Amino acid sequence: MNSSFVRILLLLLALLMPLEAWGQVQSRYVTLRYGNKLILHDFNDELVLSRKLRYHLKNKNIVTVKDEVTAKLDVIIEKAEVVLAMFPDDLHITIVLLASRKDVAAMYKSKYGKRANHISYYSLREKTIYISVDDTRLRVIAHEIGHAIVDQYFKVRPPYNIHELMAQFTEKHISD
Ligand SMILES: [Zn+2]
Repeated sequence: MNSSFVRILLLLLALLMPLEAWGQVQSRYVTLRYGNKLILHDFNDELVLSRKLRYHLKNKNIVTVKDEVTAKLDVIIEKAEVVLAMFPDDLHITIVLLASRKDVAAMYKSKYGKRANHISYYSLREKTIYISVDDTRLRVIAHEIGHAIVDQYFKVRPPYNIHELMAQFTEKHISD
């Protein structure tokens, strides 16, 4: 068995575990899923907000890491909506934290049967962002959140290139 096969197998087993075995935390806009607490803490450490975005955290009641990470994500999402001037009703995004880009590639392969070298991607069908915690940066998560907002805003899906352009626009302007 080669190592990518083993990796896919382990991921599938993890996904088959009952939901409560995965950690999960919910916020206004986000359901965040993670394999273990360490991954959640790493993600929180990598997710460094710009000064302007941090300002919006001031009024939030942050006690735990879970509070902090979901507050950050909600702030990023609200800013992304402003950047795009799109405010979809009932916006909700599932975000699945994976340890590394190899896990993201394995997840992608298990779902689509294709190889890809993404550090993150948004699944239109599942309305879910998969992201490598190792590679998490504000701009990376902003890009995928851009995809999610565009996806949930339009009733008719825009062409792929336009979708991508709007995600890039979100990424570029998230810290403005
Ligand atoms: Zn994209």
